[in-house]
Amino acid sequence: MAFINKKPFIIILGFLAVLQLALFYYYSLSVTREYRAEKADLASQAIALASSIEEKALIVKGVSSFIQTTGFDAEPVLINQYLRNTYENSGQVLNIAIAPAGVIRYLYPLSGNTEILGKSLMLDPALSTPGLVQETILSRSVTIDGPRTLAQGDYGMIIRQAVYSGNTYQGIVSVSVRISDIAGQVLPANSSGYVTTEQGSFLFGSPVPQDKDQITVPVEIYNQHWLLGTSLSPHKKWELLRGILWIELAFLLISAFTLYVLWHQGRFHRELERVVRIRTQDLHVSKQLFEKLANYDSLTEIPNRRFFMDDLQRRLQCTEPTQTYTLFFFDLNKFKEINDTLGHSTGDEVIKRLAHRLHHSKLSCEMLARTGGDEFVMLFSDMNREHIRDTAASISALISETLLVAGAHLSLSTSIGISLYPEHSENAEELLNYAAMSMNAAKALEDRNYFVFDWALREKLEQKSMISKYLHTALEREEFVLYYQPQIDAGTGAMIGMEALIRWNHPEKGLIGPGAFISAVEDAGLMIQLTDWVLKEVCRQLCEWRAQGMPLLRTSINISNSWFYNRNLIENLLALLEHHRLDTNVLEFEITESTALLEEHYPLLQQMRDCGIVVSIDDFGTKYSSLNYLKHFPVNKIKIDRTFIAGIGVSSIDETIIKSIVYVASQLGYDLIAEGVETPEQAEFLVRHQCPHIQGFLFYPPLPAEEIMKLVAA
Ligand code: C2E
Ligand code: MG
Ligand code: MG
Repeated sequence: MAFINKKPFIIILGFLAVLQLALFYYYSLSVTREYRAEKADLASQAIALASSIEEKALIVKGVSSFIQTTGFDAEPVLINQYLRNTYENSGQVLNIAIAPAGVIRYLYPLSGNTEILGKSLMLDPALSTPGLVQETILSRSVTIDGPRTLAQGDYGMIIRQAVYSGNTYQGIVSVSVRISDIAGQVLPANSSGYVTTEQGSFLFGSPVPQDKDQITVPVEIYNQHWLLGTSLSPHKKWELLRGILWIELAFLLISAFTLYVLWHQGRFHRELERVVRIRTQDLHVSKQLFEKLANYDSLTEIPNRRFFMDDLQRRLQCTEPTQTYTLFFFDLNKFKEINDTLGHSTGDEVIKRLAHRLHHSKLSCEMLARTGGDEFVMLFSDMNREHIRDTAASISALISETLLVAGAHLSLSTSIGISLYPEHSENAEELLNYAAMSMNAAKALEDRNYFVFDWALREKLEQKSMISKYLHTALEREEFVLYYQPQIDAGTGAMIGMEALIRWNHPEKGLIGPGAFISAVEDAGLMIQLTDWVLKEVCRQLCEWRAQGMPLLRTSINISNSWFYNRNLIENLLALLEHHRLDTNVLEFEITESTALLEEHYPLLQQMRDCGIVVSIDDFGTKYSSLNYLKHFPVNKIKIDRTFIAGIGVSSIDETIIKSIVYVASQLGYDLIAEGVETPEQAEFLVRHQCPHIQGFLFYPPLPAEEIMKLVAA
C-alpha cells in the first residue's frame, strides 16, 4: 500500500473497524430487542396455555364440588344428567369421568369411551401414569396426567382431582382433553412454538429446532412444569442482517471509492513528486550553470566583472579600518590588431592563455577577473608604492612573455591603471572606474606603462565630460575662436601661409585647446558642423583681412575624416568661396594619414586638387608610414610630424626618416613642411636638408587673428 499516503489509509481502516464494531453492536441490540419482543409474545402464549388448561381444570373442580355435595351414591340419573350438562357447556373436552374409589363409574359421553368404563385408575396403566393417581389423592389438588396417548387413542391429557368427604378419600373426578384442542388455541398451525418438560422432552407443538438460540418461558400448571419455547425466526434474523449488510455494503463502496481516489491521488502525487524532483534537479543544475555563467567568464573560467564587483563590494563593506586595497586594471595594447589580422579565435586563445598565465602566476592577488574583451583586473591588499611598481612590472613581464598561438610568436604589451582603497574611493564602482581611467592615461605615457590614479586625471576627464555636455551650446553661442599659426619659407624666413587652429573660449574655464575637445566633438557627431563653422570663419577672416588691406595668405584647415561624408561638399565649398569672392588656392585642407588611406575619398580629393585647393597630409610618418603609399595619395603636400622634428640631434633614425621624406617628396613633386620646430638646431637641420617650409614655436605660436594682422603689417 505504499502507493497511498499512509495516514488517510489508516484513517479509513480505523473507520471501517469502528464501523464493524458499531454495526455488530447495533445488530446485537436489534437481535436482543427481537428476542425480548418474542419472549413477551411467548409469555402471553404461556398465560393463554395455562388459562386454557385452567379452564378445563375448572370443569374438574366443578364436578368435584358437585359429587362432594351429592355423594358418590346419589341417583345415577342425576349424576349422568349433571355430567351431560357440564360436558355440553364445557366444549372441547374428550370426556368427563367420575371414579369412586378410583374405578370409573360415570362417564360422559359414552361413545368412543366405553372401553374405559369400569376400569380402575390405579390398576390400569393405560388409564393413568403410574403413581400419578396416588399423587392426586395425596395432594388433594388438581393434577395433570400427560400429555400422553390416552386409552381412547388420542394424544391428550387428563386433569384429575381427588374428592374427599372430610378427611376420607372418596374417589376421583377427571376430564380428558385432546392436546390439539388446547394447542390449537394457543399455538397456531404456522407458529414455531412448542412445549417441553423442564428436562427438554418434547410434549407438543412444532418440532424443537436444533439451533441454540431458543427462547423459552416456564409454564407452571399444577403438578406440571413445562417450558413453552420458540426460536427467533431465521427470516427476522436475516432481515436484521440484511439491513446491516446494506449499510456495510454502502460504507464498503464509499471506502473503496475513497481508497480509489486516494490511490489515484497517491499515484498523481508520486508522478507529480517525480516530475518536481526531476525539475528540481534540472533547476539545481541550471542554477549552478547559471551561477557559473553569471559569475565566471566562459572563455577563461576566471571570475567575471559581476562576480568581481560583488566580491569587492562585500570586502569593502567589512574591512578593518587599517585595511588597504590596490586595484590593477589592464588590457592588451593593440589587441584589436590581433583580432583583425589573426582572427577572433586566435584572439580568444590569446586571452585564454594569458588568463591562465595570470591565474597561475606567483602574484599573491586576492582576486583576478576578466572584466571585458581584453581587460583584466587584479586586486591586492596592503601594498606600498614600491610594491605597486614591482607588481605592475611583474604583470607587464607576464604579459610580454612571447606567446605561440596559431603558429605565430606574439609579443604583447599592456597598459595598467591603478586605483587605491580607501585613498581614492571607498566605493567599488568608483575604484574600478578610476583604475580604468588611469589605464587610458597610461596608454598616453611614453616612459612607463602604468598610471596610478590622481585627482588631476579625474579633473581632466571631468572636464572632458563637461565639454561633451556643453559642446552643442558652445556651437550655438559661437564660443569657438580660431588661432592662426604662421608658416615660414625656410630659405627666406618669409611668412607663406598659416594653419587655422581652433580653441574653445569657455565662459568660465577660459581658452581650451583642441586636444581637450576634438575627440568629444567627434563622439558627439558634431564634427561636420564644427568644420563647416571653421571653414566659414576662415573665409570670413580672410575677407576681413583683405578688407583691412592685408595680402591674402593661404590658410590651412584641419579636416577630419567624417567631414568627407558631407553632402554636396565641393558645390558648397565653391559656393562659399564664391560668396566671399575668394580664390580656391587660398585654402589648404590638412587630412590625416588614415583619411588619406581611404580610397573612397580619392575622387573628392582629386576634385579638390583639380579646383586648386591644396591637400596636405598632416602628422605624416606617425601612422602607416609607408613611403610607398605616397605615390597613390591624391595630395599636394606633406607635413612632417613634430615627433620626427623632436628627434633631430637626438635620434639618427628620426633624422634619416626626415631626410628620406624630404628626398621622396622632392622626387614625387610634393610640397613639404616640417611642423613643431622649436629650436634653431632643428631649423638649421631642416634648412640644410632642403625642407622648404617650417612651422613651429621657434618662429610663431598659434596667434589670434588681430596678432596676425599686426604681424603682417610689421
Ligand atoms: P595639428 O594639426 O598637428 O596642429 C599642430 C599642433 O601643434 C597645434 O596644436 C599647434 O599649436 C602645435 N604646435 C605648433 N608648433 C609647435 C611647436 O613648435 N611645438 C609644439 N609642441 N607644438 C606645436 P593645437 O592647436 O593644440 O592643435 C592640436 C591638434 O588639434 C591639431 O594638430 C589638429 O589635429 C587638431 N585641430 C586643431 N584645430 C582643429 C580644427 O579646426 N579642426 C580639426 N578637425 N582639428 C583641429
Ligand atoms: Mg594641422
Ligand atoms: Mg600636425
